[in-house]
Amino acid sequence: MKLITLNSGSNGNAIYLESDDGNSAIMLDCGISRLQIEARLKVHGRAPHADLPVFITHEHGDHVRGLASLSKTYHMRSYMTEATYRKLYARPEVKGFRFMGNTETVEHGAFRVTAFPKKHDAADPVGFLVESDGARFLYLTDLGEENPEALALLPTADGMLIESNYDLDMLLAGDYPQWLKLRVQSDVGHLSNEQAALLVKQHTGGMLRTLVLGHLSANNNTPECAETAMRAALANRNGTSPALHVASRHNVGDIIEV
Ligand SMILES: [Zn+2]
Ligand SMILES: [Zn+2]
Repeated sequence: MKLITLNSGSNGNAIYLESDDGNSAIMLDCGISRLQIEARLKVHGRAPHADLPVFITHEHGDHVRGLASLSKTYHMRSYMTEATYRKLYARPEVKGFRFMGNTETVEHGAFRVTAFPKKHDAADPVGFLVESDGARFLYLTDLGEENPEALALLPTADGMLIESNYDLDMLLAGDYPQWLKLRVQSDVGHLSNEQAALLVKQHTGGMLRTLVLGHLSANNNTPECAETAMRAALANRNGTSPALHVASRHNVGDIIEV
């Protein structure tokens, strides 16, 4: 399958995945504006349409900011857990929205999307395992710490986007208030560069061939810091090293083969 990161960072997350034959596509999260999504898909000759379902990990703004406008314009389906929906909408039912259990699988064209629960300070946050064209892609952001469900999937992934949110030294030395520093580091906050690197080193398998670092913090990380930490871990890992990419906080990425 093909992967395009439209944006990834604490300022907004939106991922586009397309089957190899180009006949089906899905989006994971919708945390940038509709106009940005349209413009970034257009760079690669793609566009939103009614048959492009969106799977939402949790209710934080950096994952849903453009969802209402995008669904209203294109009438696509959106999948999320019921608790996530309740946090976002007071109304009993918004047209086009479907509840998806936190271990449920939804099929769309060539895609099978399976949710799994994760630890983060949201109502019922999930990650996604996406299967298509014989490959397994893991979408793992906004993770305070590893949980059994995520650990069970890591060794099976051919491709993965993993959060590499902050450099611990930059976080501690930075000007975030103390409560926010604690929240980011907590077991329902975010993964540091070192934590992401350790998870990849210790738990991924030999078939991992595509690795994308994402959800970088603007204030407490740099792409170079995140990449250096992960490269050090990969150098000490058994098996061949995957192709390593760092998703941009501001621009659409290249088309990546998973
Ligand atoms: Zn979040
Ligand atoms: Zn987030």
